[in-house]
Amino acid sequence: MEEITLGQLLQAVNGTLLGPFQNPSAIMQKVDTDSRNMHPGSLFIPLVGDRFDGHAYINAALESGAVGCLTARERESYREDKFYVKVANTQRALRDLAAWYKARFDIPFVAVTGSVGKTTAKDMIAAVLGTRFRVLKTEGNFNNNIGLPLTILRLDRTVQVCVLEMGMDRPGEIDYLADIVRPDVGVITNIGDAHIERLGSRENIFKAKCELLPHIQKNGLLVLNGDDPLLATLRGSTPVKTVFCGQGEGLDYRAQTVGGDGESHILCRLTTPNMDRQVRIPALGEHMIYPALIASAVGEFFGLTADEIQQGLTRFVPTRMRMNILRRDGQITILDDTYNANPQSMRAAISVLADSHSAWKVAVLGDMLELGPFAPALHTEVGECLGREKIDCLIAVGEMSAYIAQGARDSGVPQVHHCPDKEAAKTLLEQVVRPDSTILVKASRGMQLEELTAFLMEHT
Ligand code: ATP
Ligand code: MG
Repeated sequence: MEEITLGQLLQAVNGTLLGPFQNPSAIMQKVDTDSRNMHPGSLFIPLVGDRFDGHAYINAALESGAVGCLTARERESYREDKFYVKVANTQRALRDLAAWYKARFDIPFVAVTGSVGKTTAKDMIAAVLGTRFRVLKTEGNFNNNIGLPLTILRLDRTVQVCVLEMGMDRPGEIDYLADIVRPDVGVITNIGDAHIERLGSRENIFKAKCELLPHIQKNGLLVLNGDDPLLATLRGSTPVKTVFCGQGEGLDYRAQTVGGDGESHILCRLTTPNMDRQVRIPALGEHMIYPALIASAVGEFFGLTADEIQQGLTRFVPTRMRMNILRRDGQITILDDTYNANPQSMRAAISVLADSHSAWKVAVLGDMLELGPFAPALHTEVGECLGREKIDCLIAVGEMSAYIAQGARDSGVPQVHHCPDKEAAKTLLEQVVRPDSTILVKASRGMQLEELTAFLMEHT
């Protein structure tokens, strides 16, 4: 981050100073909402949630180096050597500060949203653009109304392009984030069932993602998945230049998988307005063509050559716990996809397991959360997918996963186990894992199935 003075902060967040410290030229060099991350020169922003109130940590933050803080409340006492800026709402102030700070930088922004594959697309776009530009991208999954402003506040003069992931679990959230960013390039990866509990229907999810559209700069670009039936309906009605990606005939950016080793990469043929070549992508699953196409479209928008795009795609490194291939003793292969799960990504992961050359394919699948009344049917469908894909053995973990087990039994999976918790799953794993197994482990974040991949690495 570049230095901000107290005077500038007061203006950006429309705040007022409380307490004796009044020097407007005091400087801050970092902004954080976690009092444990304070450095000399940090500004502490206390956030208020349902179960916590960051205001309780103001003293601790100042003690450990923060130069000052925002606060939505007046306090009983004020230190003389620190500043306290009163605002109506600290989260809103974080947003306003990020929007003000962003205006200092005359660089292009890329915003990525969608139900599945945002982080993957963001990382592939950054890998491609990184062949020519210095890129700042969202770290990990820092994609919400806190993580996005904090990412913007990491910009400095060396950055030439900024790639941001935008997540949402309610209407209005993408509007809130996109209004800060006003991106030059907008991406919607697809419309699925993630967060359907709160949003009620796929159409509502579609509408919520489309909140991005009016915020894209007029001379910018919108990149959409042309194989997605809802996104395809946007053809001809978007406010900016739009390109469609996918496998379908007549799309602007097309790809077909043409091979791969089932272990470390896929090969696909990419056809774009400017290139037609075979590319190796170091990730598994046919769905990986989508982020590759998106990254190619964004790369071409920024004038990259076909060689640069290809080089960038080849350099892509998947984030931890997202379809990482772990191996033990050269014998068992573990597909660690424990970061998160929803119906679409479950199906994609099962098809990766199905493509492995192993003689014993084991799926260890846990509950998919936040699906509300749709949960039983969507879990059953995942179970049925296991049968269709000829998976040999299922260990279903968690309450809702009983429906995955049911679907698997009904569709003829030879060995089906259901266990209530991870401890029971560990006992089962010791029994079912054979030397030539490939084991997929996947569930929603809340299930924390990485405990099982760790167990597999050590004990089987
Ligand atoms: P989150 O909402 O948790 O931020 P995300 O949208 O960022 O998720 P990723 O983290 O990129 O998504 O991917 C989540 C999972 O979905 C991974 O298991 C990944 O392999 C899988 N995945 C990625 N892209 C697709 C796709 N187009 N179709 C199906 N599955 C996909
Ligand atoms: Mg993500």
